[in-house]
Amino acid sequence: MKIQALAHDEVFSSLLSSPRGLDDGDVARRLAEYGPNEIRQLHVRSMLSRLTAHFTHFLALLLWFAAGLCFLSEYLHPGEGLLRLGVAILAIILINALFSFIQEYRTEKAIEELRKLLPFRIAVLRNGVETEVDAGEIVPGDLVLLREGDKVPADGRVVLSNRLTVNNAPLTGESDSRLLSDAPWEGDVAESHNLVFAGTLVVGGGGQVVVYATGMATEFGKIAHITGGVVQEVSPLQVEILRVTRIVAAIAVACGACFFVMGELFGRGFWNNFLFAIGIIIALVPEGLLPTVTLSLAMASRRMARRNALVKSLNAVEALGSVDMICTDKTGTLTQNLMTVKSLWSPDDGAMACTVALFCNNATPSSDGVRGDPTETALYRYAAERVRLDAERLDEAPFDADRKRMATVNRIDGRLLVLVKGAAETVLPLCGRIPREGGIVALDCALTTELEGRHRAMAGQGLRMMALAYRELDQLPSQEIPEQGLVFAGFMGLEDPPRPEVASALRQCRSAGIRVIMITGDAGPTAAAIAREIGLLEGEPVIIQGKECATMPDSQLRRELKQDNLIFARMSPQNKIHVVSLLMEEGHRVAVTGDGVNDASALKKAHVGVAMGLSGTSVAREAADIVLLDDNFASIVHAIEEGRTVFQNIRNFITYIFASNIPELIPYIAYILFGIPLPLTIMQILAVDLGTDMFPALALGSESPPPDIMRRPPRPKAERLLTGGVLTRAYLFLGLLEALACMGGYFYVMQGGGWEWPQTLAPSSTLYLRATTACLAGIIATQVANVFTCRSPHLSIVTLGFLSNRLLLVGIALELALALLIIYTPGGNAIFGCAPLGPDVWLLLLPFALLLLGADEVRKLVHKRLSGSASVGRDSAVG
Ligand code: ATP
Repeated sequence: MKIQALAHDEVFSSLLSSPRGLDDGDVARRLAEYGPNEIRQLHVRSMLSRLTAHFTHFLALLLWFAAGLCFLSEYLHPGEGLLRLGVAILAIILINALFSFIQEYRTEKAIEELRKLLPFRIAVLRNGVETEVDAGEIVPGDLVLLREGDKVPADGRVVLSNRLTVNNAPLTGESDSRLLSDAPWEGDVAESHNLVFAGTLVVGGGGQVVVYATGMATEFGKIAHITGGVVQEVSPLQVEILRVTRIVAAIAVACGACFFVMGELFGRGFWNNFLFAIGIIIALVPEGLLPTVTLSLAMASRRMARRNALVKSLNAVEALGSVDMICTDKTGTLTQNLMTVKSLWSPDDGAMACTVALFCNNATPSSDGVRGDPTETALYRYAAERVRLDAERLDEAPFDADRKRMATVNRIDGRLLVLVKGAAETVLPLCGRIPREGGIVALDCALTTELEGRHRAMAGQGLRMMALAYRELDQLPSQEIPEQGLVFAGFMGLEDPPRPEVASALRQCRSAGIRVIMITGDAGPTAAAIAREIGLLEGEPVIIQGKECATMPDSQLRRELKQDNLIFARMSPQNKIHVVSLLMEEGHRVAVTGDGVNDASALKKAHVGVAMGLSGTSVAREAADIVLLDDNFASIVHAIEEGRTVFQNIRNFITYIFASNIPELIPYIAYILFGIPLPLTIMQILAVDLGTDMFPALALGSESPPPDIMRRPPRPKAERLLTGGVLTRAYLFLGLLEALACMGGYFYVMQGGGWEWPQTLAPSSTLYLRATTACLAGIIATQVANVFTCRSPHLSIVTLGFLSNRLLLVGIALELALALLIIYTPGGNAIFGCAPLGPDVWLLLLPFALLLLGADEVRKLVHKRLSGSASVGRDSAVG
C-alpha cells in the first residue's frame, strides 16, 4: 500500500481513523501497541567505551608512559623508590578517569534535564475536538493540525493543505521549501508532494495530516538508527581549555627535561634526576581541568534555566558572556503580549471594521476563552461583542511578517467579501474608497493625509495599530485574492503593556556596556512610545523604517548604527538580518531575538539567537541558541550575567590551581641549586594536586554572579581565558607568596631540629618527614587563604563576604579533613611520607596565609584606585 497514492477516505480507512480524529480508547490502545513517538538513541556509546576514553586521552597516555618508565627503571635499578611512584601515577590515572567520567555523566544529566524543560506540543483533532498534546503521545492514525512555524511530530499524509509549505532541511539537508497538496500521488515517498516527515518544519500555510508512522518507524527514526543520534558540539572554550592543557603539558615536559639536565650537571645521580623530572611533569600538568570546565558550563546552563533562559548548547553559555549588543523585538519580549483593543476609529458606525476584525482572523473560541495569536484573540474578543453574524471562509492569504497583512474571502449574509487587516503602511495603499456621509467616496490625497494623521496620533500613544478594509466581489477569485481597491473600514489600536522588569534590565545593560536596539515589525510611533516608557529612549528617537533600511547604502547604515536612541520600525525579517550582519561586521557580539519562521536565519546568523518559548514557533526555537521560557527580555540579561560569571569562575579556579604550582616547583629548584634535602616529595605534590586542591577548585566554579559583574564592560572578543595578567597573578604573585610559606615552614622545622647546611638527612628520619610535612602544610594553609582571594580578581573579600559561597566552605572543610588524614593518621603518614606537626608549625604558617590574603586585598585596592570610577572593573590584564 502506498499511502501517498490513496484517496482521502482510503487514507482514513487504511489507518482506521476518521476526519474527526481518533477517540481516547484508540489512542490508548495504539500507544500501548506502537509505543511513544520518540527517537531512541540506539548507538549511544556504551558506558564501558566511554570510561575507556578517559584512560586513553592525550594526558592519560602521557601518564601511562611515565608509569611505564618508572616500572622499567624499578626493574633495572630496584630500590630507587620508583615502584612507589609508578603505583602513584597509576592511582592518578584511575582517580582522574573516574573523576572525569563522573563529571561527564553529571554534565549529560544536567543537559538532559534542560531538554525536558521545553516540551514539544502539537495540535491534534481527537473525538472531533482540537486539543494540544505532547508530541510523544502521537500515534498512527492521529489527525494532526499543522500551522506555520510548527515542527512536524511524525510522518503523515496530507489530507488538507492550505498552502502548506514545509522545509525538509532537517531531514534531507536540502533547504528549498516545498508546497504540499492533498491530492493523491503515484510516485515514490521521497518525491511525493503530499507527505510530511517527522522533524521537518512548516514554514508557511497550514493543513491537516493523518499520521502513518511514529518514533523509530519514521524516516527520521530510520536515519537516527544509522547515524546513532546527535553529535555533541564542542564549544570554543572547551577547545581553548584543551589547548591550554596541551601547552601546559608541553611546558611541564620541558621543565622536567630542564631539571633532569640541571640535576645531571650538578651530579645528583641519574635515577634521582629521572624521578624528579617525572615529579615536575606531574606537578605542572593540570589533569582535571577540562572536565571541570565542562561541568561548570553545564552547571551554569542549569542556573540559566532556573532563570528562564534555556541554553541549547554549552557553546551559547560562553557566547552569551561576551555579548555587547542585543537586537530585541518588542511585542512579547519588551511588552507582556497581553493585548486588548483600546480604541476603534472608523469613518462610519464601525460595524464593517468589527466584521473584518472578527472574520479575517484565525483565533478560535475554545472552552477556556479564545485560542490563537494574542493580537488576533484581542481583536476577536472586541469584535465578537459588537457584531453577530455568521460567515463562511472560502480562502485565506495568511499573515506574514513580510507582507504585514492578512486577507480572507468570506461569504457573509449572502455577500462575497474580501477582508483585509494589517499594518497601515501596507493596507492604506490598497484602499481606494472610504465611507462618507452615508455613501462611499474615493479616497483622495487629503483624506489619506487625514487618515495617516489619525494613525500617527493613535500609534503615538503606544498602541499597536491595525488597519481594517474590505471589498465586495461578484464571483470567487480563481487565483490570488484581489486586494486592490479596498474600502477603508477603520483603525483599531491595541494596548500591550510593557513588562515591569524590563526597565531595570535595561538599566543593567547600560551599566554592563551592552547596547540594546529595538528592531520591531510594529509602527515607528508605537515603538517609540513603548521605548520611552521602558527607558530605552531618552530624547528624540531616530527611527529607521524597514523600507529605508533596504535602500540605504551600507556605509550610511553603519553610521546610523552608531547613533543613540535608534529604533528600527516596520522591519521585515530580511531587513533584520541585514542590520545584524552589519553589526557583526562592525565587530560587535550580537544577540538577536526572534519568534517567527522568517526570523530563523537571523537567529542562526547572530552570535546568540534567542527564541521565545511561549509565543515563538518551533522553527525559531530550532534555529536559536537559547530559548526564553518566559519570553521575557529580562531573562536574556540574566543569562548574560550567568554567561559572564561562568567565564570569570573558570578563570578564577585556573588562577587558584596554577598558584599552587609555584610552591611545588620552588622546593625542587632549591634542592638542585642549594643542595638542601628535598623539601617536598612527589607524593606530597600529588596529595595537593589531586587531593586537597580539588574540592575548593570545584566550589570556585560554582560561584554565583559577583555584584560587579554587570557593571563591567563586555569582555573583548579576542580576549583569551589565560592572559598574561592571569598567569602573572597566579605564578609570580600568589604562587611566590605560597612558596614563601612552605619554605618558611620547612626551614623552621629543619632549623628547630638542629639541621645545618649542607647536612643531608635520611629520607626516613623524623626530622626530614616533619620538615617536608611542614612544607606541605604551608601549601595547604596558603591555598585556604588563596581560595578566598581567587573568588574575584577585583572585589575585596569583605565585599563578597567570607560565608557567601556555602559550597566553598564545604570545599575547604573537605580540604582540611583530607590534610588531617594525611598528616595525623598512620596510614596517611605511610602513603605520603609525612609526620604529625605540632601546633607551633601551624601558628607559624597562619601569618603567611594572612599575608597572602592581605597582599591581594591591597592589590585589589590599588587596582580600584588606579582604574577609578570611570572604568569600574576594566582590567582584562588580571581578571
Ligand atoms: P516585534 O517584531 O517587535 O515582535 P510585531 O510583533 O509587532 O513586532 P509583526 O508581528 O511583524 O511585528 O507585526 C507587524 C505589524 O503587522 C503589526 O503592527 C500589525 O499592524 C500587523 N499585524 C500583526 N499581526 C497581524 C495579524 N495577525 N494579522 C494582520 N496584521 C497583523
